[in-house]
Amino acid sequence: MKAKDIAGLLDEPACAHNKKSKSGCAKPKPGATAGGCAFDGAQIALLPVADVAHIVHGPIACAGSSWDNRGTRSSGPDLYRLGMTTDLTEQDVIMGRGEKRLFHSIKQAVEDYQPAAVFVYNTCVPALVGDDIEAVCKAAQERWGTPVVPVDAAGFYGTKNLGNRIAGESMVKYVVGTREPDPLPPEVPGAAGTPFKVHDINLIGEYNIAGEFWHVLPLLDELGLRVLCTLSGDARYREVQTMHRAEVNMMVCSKAMINVARKLQESYDTPWFEGSFYGITDTSQALRDIARLIDDPDLSARTEALIAREEARIHEALHPWRARLKGKRVLLYTGGVKSWSVISALQDLGIVVVATGTKKSTEEDKARIRALMGEDAKMIEDGNPRALLNIVKDYQADILIAGGRNMYTALKARLPFLDINQEREFGYAGYEGMLELVRQLALTLESPVWQAVRKPAPWDGAGANAQVLGGEALIAAAGG
Ligand code: SF4
Repeated sequence: MKAKDIAGLLDEPACAHNKKSKSGCAKPKPGATAGGCAFDGAQIALLPVADVAHIVHGPIACAGSSWDNRGTRSSGPDLYRLGMTTDLTEQDVIMGRGEKRLFHSIKQAVEDYQPAAVFVYNTCVPALVGDDIEAVCKAAQERWGTPVVPVDAAGFYGTKNLGNRIAGESMVKYVVGTREPDPLPPEVPGAAGTPFKVHDINLIGEYNIAGEFWHVLPLLDELGLRVLCTLSGDARYREVQTMHRAEVNMMVCSKAMINVARKLQESYDTPWFEGSFYGITDTSQALRDIARLIDDPDLSARTEALIAREEARIHEALHPWRARLKGKRVLLYTGGVKSWSVISALQDLGIVVVATGTKKSTEEDKARIRALMGEDAKMIEDGNPRALLNIVKDYQADILIAGGRNMYTALKARLPFLDINQEREFGYAGYEGMLELVRQLALTLESPVWQAVRKPAPWDGAGANAQVLGGEALIAAAGG
């Protein structure tokens, strides 16, 4: 990838900071790829396309360190879960065999698995050697007649976020617009017998973590909204090809693939908006926004009816849980879109969010946090374990909700912990996802294990009358 193409991606005009000052995204500092390199970002953005063979062109470690690191689910094919790599060695580099190995890897993937397409991810070593993966992909596509898409996202190009955009760019450049969607009937009969028009939409940045999008899909079906493609949760190659025909694009995960939404707007005039399916308020708002942008009064009316029905149903279902969770204090440490969308979900439950992490949040994310939590909201930029535990103590948090890497910080401090990031086991999207969230919160908070582990061990001499340790002692015990 040429330096000017990378600069172009960092200078995304749809980002607010570029609209204001043309400042571009911050240059990565040394060590920034510790949170994931550009290749990692590109691969996790596209890996959920389930019927594609994903080949990592590079040394084995690139594929090994990032394969399958998102709990994204597929409703059909599971080819995406098979790790494929060209496994380059020093010998290949010295003998200049990289391109040949890639060509043969594509052949093997096509012949053994008959994938809908092959995605080839570039990594640092072949990019430095100068392998022309675009030319190899083109030759392989002509030879075997299966689409082969280069994703030139070598790790040293920049951060994980840049990798997400490169992935989106590859889809727009090589895949979107190469097939027309299946035709729709002009109208379909509704549940009440009145026919209505079906509209096509895309969801960009929805990854179907733990299958959570399946909480939302039935609602969209009911409203007559056909999801042409979710880029990329539970997606198929043939769906990505038709993304240009959507009437509206919803950016589900903040700015990760904002360039896709902008380019589809520029090339096909498709309006887009940013929304979230976490929490009752945000789910309803997202459905309203879709209807508003499609501008079909009948759809808007049906959407309002569905929202009223679903909100009433879920409020009733949440009622018994609300009493158990009301007033509980949460320290939320996650990044990007989740820093605000989960706040709103928790506030819906009457839970107090004492502070939230903003390390990977944009200025717009922070503005939303302020709108939800007030101007004095505590935002955590530096989430090292000691800082997090100090906040737990100062703000008397009952639970830490964060990504998996913070789990041991919480557990060593004998503090209840809930995993909110991509490795989580449960889906929290949509109205139904709220029920799962409260269930998991209540199970975690009310687990008897916390009382048990907070007691001093019997052999420490405190005996049966031992006092339950307080917050300060716990933090000391965790080395904080
Ligand atoms: S692409 Fe580069 S930075 Fe990323 S895992 Fe491979 S060698 Fe490391």
